[in-house]
Amino acid sequence: MIFMSDDPRPRSKEDPAGRIAVLADQCVLCGLCQPHCPTYVLDANEAESPRGRIRLAQALASGELTADATIRLPLDHCLSCLNCESVCPSGVCFGELLIQTRALLGPRPDRPTALLGLLTRPRLARSLLALARGLRIRRWAHRLPWLFGNAERAALALLPTRGTLRTARALPPFSGAMGRVALFQGCVSGLADSAALDAARHLLRAAGFRVHTLPPVCCGAIDLHDGATASAAAAAGRVARDWADQPADTLLCITPGCLGTLRRDLPDVIVEDAMGFLGRHVERLQFRPLDERVALHMPCTQNNVARNGAVVRALLDRVPGLDVRELPATPGCCGAAGSHGLTFPERAERLRDRVLGHLAPLSPDRLLSSNIGCRLHLAAGDHALATEHPLTLLARQLQPGTHH
Ligand code: SF4
Ligand code: SF4
Repeated sequence: MIFMSDDPRPRSKEDPAGRIAVLADQCVLCGLCQPHCPTYVLDANEAESPRGRIRLAQALASGELTADATIRLPLDHCLSCLNCESVCPSGVCFGELLIQTRALLGPRPDRPTALLGLLTRPRLARSLLALARGLRIRRWAHRLPWLFGNAERAALALLPTRGTLRTARALPPFSGAMGRVALFQGCVSGLADSAALDAARHLLRAAGFRVHTLPPVCCGAIDLHDGATASAAAAAGRVARDWADQPADTLLCITPGCLGTLRRDLPDVIVEDAMGFLGRHVERLQFRPLDERVALHMPCTQNNVARNGAVVRALLDRVPGLDVRELPATPGCCGAAGSHGLTFPERAERLRDRVLGHLAPLSPDRLLSSNIGCRLHLAAGDHALATEHPLTLLARQLQPGTHH
C-alpha cells in the first residue's frame, strides 16, 4: 500500500491540502507511534494507525486518492487522542494534520449533525433533557427505530442522572486578592457537569481568586474535529465575543477536551486547565481526610493537551487518607472522543470495555475522570460505580474555613 506520488497539483501552505503536505512530510515512517494508537491496537490494521493515516492524508491531499467511503473510514475512526503525537520523535503535529484532513474531507455524510447541534446548544438541550426525562424517553428508544437511530440511542444512553446535574453548596467568602479568572463552562459540561463547575468556583475562591463565568457556549471542538469548519469558526467567534466582556486575566476550563480548541479560538489569551492552575496554588487549600479508594481515569486530552496528569494526581494526593489508583494508560482512549461515541457506538463500546476491564482489580469506591465526554461514556458502561470530576471530590473535602 504505497501512496507516494509525484504530486502534480500546486500546493499553497494556507489551504488544507498544502498544510497536510507540509505536516505529513515531517513523518519519517518509523512506526514508533503504532503501539500507542488505540485503534491500531483494536484493529491491527496499518490503515487504522497514525502512520497509515498520515499516508492516506498525504495521498488525498495530493489527489492520488479520492475520498470514497472506504478510504475515508480509517480517518473517520481516528479518536484525536494524540497519543501518537506525544510519542513521536520527529515532532509530527498529528492533531493539526487531522484537523486539516477533516477540513479537506468535510463532515461524514451520516454525521448526526442535528443531534450534535442540539448538544452544543446548552439552553435548548437543557429544556429537551427535562422533557426526555419526563416522557421516560430512554425506555422508548429501542421500540421506535424509525425515530431513534444509532447516534440518538447512544446519546440517550449517556443521559446524565439527576445527581450529575445537582449543584454544589453555597460558595465560600473570598478576597479576590490573588486576581481574577474566568471559567469556561462550555456546552455539554455546562449542561451535565454543573457540580464540577461549582466545585471549580469553590476551590478558586477559597484560593483567593475572584471568579467570573462565561455564558454556556460551545468552543467548537466537535465541529472542528468533524470537518464542519464553518460551524467551528462561528463557535470561535462567539467565544471571542464572550471573552471580550470578561474582566479577567486568565480563562480556565474544567474539561481538558475544550482546551486545545479554546487556545485556537483565543490565541492571545492565557487559557489553562483549571486543575493545572489550582496545582500552582494548592498550598492555599486544606482538605479533610477521606477514607476511600478511587480509580482515576486520565483522559487523553489531560495527558496530551493539558499535559498535566501528574498535577491532577498531586492535587488528589493532598486529601489525607485518599487512595488514588490510576487506570493504566494503555490502551488509552475510552472511545468517547468528541462525536466518535455517537457516530461509531460499537467501536466506542469496545474501547470503553478495555478501559473498564482494569477497574475490578482496583476495587474502587468511585471513578474519577475530568473530561465530561469520557465520564458520561464511562458511566454508561458495565459497572455500578459513582463517577465524578476530581474537582468535585476536592471541593467536597475542602476544609471549612479555608479561604483567603
Ligand atoms: S508519526 Fe512520528 S512516530 Fe509515527 S511513524 Fe511518523 S515519525 Fe514515526
Ligand atoms: S490520534 Fe489517537 S487514534 Fe488517531 S492515529 Fe493518533 S493515536 Fe491513533
